[in-house]
Amino acid sequence: MAETYIVTGAAGFIGSNFVKLALEREDARIVALDKLTYAGNLANLSGAQDNPGFEFVKGDIADGPLVRKLLETYQPSAIVNFAAESHVDRSIDSPACFVETNVTGTFTLLEACRDYFFGATAPRHFRFIQVSTDEVYGSLGSTGYFTEKTPYSPNSPYSASKAAADHFAGAYFATYGLPVLITNCSNNYGPFQFPEKLIPLMILKALEAQPLPIYGDGRNIRDWIFVEDHCLGVMEVLKRGVPGEKYNLGGNCERSNVEVVDAVCAVLEDLFPASENPAMIQGGVVSYLDLKSFVKDRPGHDRRYAIDASRVKNELGWSPGHEFNEGLRRTVKWYLDNLDWCRDIRSGKYRMERLGLPGEK
Ligand code: NAD
Repeated sequence: MAETYIVTGAAGFIGSNFVKLALEREDARIVALDKLTYAGNLANLSGAQDNPGFEFVKGDIADGPLVRKLLETYQPSAIVNFAAESHVDRSIDSPACFVETNVTGTFTLLEACRDYFFGATAPRHFRFIQVSTDEVYGSLGSTGYFTEKTPYSPNSPYSASKAAADHFAGAYFATYGLPVLITNCSNNYGPFQFPEKLIPLMILKALEAQPLPIYGDGRNIRDWIFVEDHCLGVMEVLKRGVPGEKYNLGGNCERSNVEVVDAVCAVLEDLFPASENPAMIQGGVVSYLDLKSFVKDRPGHDRRYAIDASRVKNELGWSPGHEFNEGLRRTVKWYLDNLDWCRDIRSGKYRMERLGLPGEK
């Protein structure tokens, strides 16, 4: 019989990619729970919506009675918790909702799952997958990698809230024996990412011949992973990981922010040359690279993240399948082919403005 998974945050960037892959590859029955915040979008789930194995529930992970009702009704064999406030700059401006969703929300899920798992009806192979980030580990110098043993040292309200949630998840395994597994992944990119994040922001600004804002000196380094690779890694951990364990997922792809922006400009030049882009012609800008603009740094900006993903490779046989240039090309092409999706998102409150500089509004 197909497994039933409750996937939270399913209408966001990674959650929606995960749902579609799970429906395609696993023949799973998916119950999607999402509050539909500014970052959640039902259009991300088009395709999944027609699948008889898919059900969408609008709701908050911090709503205990709702979560308990879903567990009782659907008897899932896993909860995969993608729901979160996810943007570091927003966490600097307004940290409270990060605590409400990322900490209290995860705690509420864990509490409901504790009763469910130790009740009579839950499948014995039930698992709670806490999807987390490498940002919880803090900042690296120019050498070294985060392993699963690296102590947490978060620096932004976002990473602090994710770290708190991970600690609760770990504590529910240690204290109650709830089968919790935690994944810590690096920076994702790919289709359906909300355009506040670096890669889609640069694509959309470049298309409009707007300056491409690069924080500080642009030399902050992140490890980049194509979203499908992350989703497949989470799936491996869900199916084969050991309860109580953590798994680092990464793309083996360290790039400075300025290298990422250069790469976006190069792919755009190839797919939609500046000389054919009316906004560029009108603005008298010859090359997308000329739009690069160095702006004030993010407060508390971590310098370098780098993931050692050897554990998940050795123990579960997972490694990322997409090389950066290939994944980036697919991503840029997706945005070019889905400008309506981008327009709809920006018809709401978000205008691609600078966020995360308190006191400078
Ligand atoms: P996203 O912001 O695109 O999506 C988050 C989703 O969660 C949205 O659909 C939103 O509506 C939903 N949501 C927010 N609060 C909720 C609540 N209280 N109840 C129910 N739903 C709620 O985020 P994303 O980039 O898809 O990230 C998904 C998860 O992966 C997050 O937990 C994030 O910390 C983690 N992660 C992200 C990255 C990355 O590079 N984007 C890297 C590592 C880990």
